[in-house]
Amino acid sequence: MHFDILTLFPQMLAGPLEASILSRAQQKGLVSVALHDIRDYATGRHHVTDDAPYGGGGGMIMKPEPIFAAVEHVVAGAQGVPVVLLSPQGRLFTQAIAAELTKHAGLVLVCGRYEGVDERVRQHLATDEISVGDYVLTGGELAALVIVDAVTRLLPGVLGDPGAVCDDSHANGLLEGPHYTRPATFRGWDVPEVLRSGDHGAVARWRREQALRRTFDRRSDLLAVADLTLADREFLARLAEEAG
Ligand code: SAM
Repeated sequence: MHFDILTLFPQMLAGPLEASILSRAQQKGLVSVALHDIRDYATGRHHVTDDAPYGGGGGMIMKPEPIFAAVEHVVAGAQGVPVVLLSPQGRLFTQAIAAELTKHAGLVLVCGRYEGVDERVRQHLATDEISVGDYVLTGGELAALVIVDAVTRLLPGVLGDPGAVCDDSHANGLLEGPHYTRPATFRGWDVPEVLRSGDHGAVARWRREQALRRTFDRRSDLLAVADLTLADREFLARLAEEAG
């Protein structure tokens, strides 16, 4: 999968893309990321990319011409590549949207700055608008990295254990249960006996119940849409009874 990231601050993105799983995914040829400086597409002696807002008010607005020129350059010839505008006003990014984005061979991510981008970018250039949360960042760069990271780890071959993503929080509507590693006892706190029992069936049941319990305790809103078995529902009914 190929990501084109359009930004005024490419230097903000380089470091995270060069570390750990994102770096290995690129080395293995599973993903490629191209950083494009929007300023390179601005015309005029000063390569101006922003201007004052019509109607007055504070802050600067990113001009449409360099963004259109940059996007048109990177998608030239390619059909149907989503052009995602990062925006606190977009649809809220979720694991389901990350999975949906993996279906594309490429993605163009446009990072706004300042007060935001000229509305005509949203209306006539972007095909999608995504927010990474209900808060305002200074720019879209961190949001673009969030999307690249979350999408990349879902691509086949990126993670050592391909099954790992299936049990992740939000993958199936539940939060994942707790994890433990050695030592079996740390400062007097023991790892649950069942995890050391070697009984795979009991371990799987315990993990499912822990995921249900954790979701019930912390994010009961997720249960309304989670994919639940009859046994899950019975277990949740017991939890509800316990909770009074
Ligand atoms: N004035 C804008 C508003 O109230 O909607 C916010 C502009 S913000 C300071 C500058 C840029 O950061 C935005 O154009 C967008 O690209 C990015 N950004 C900020 N918060 C974001 C979020 N939650 N998700 C995605 N991008 C975000």
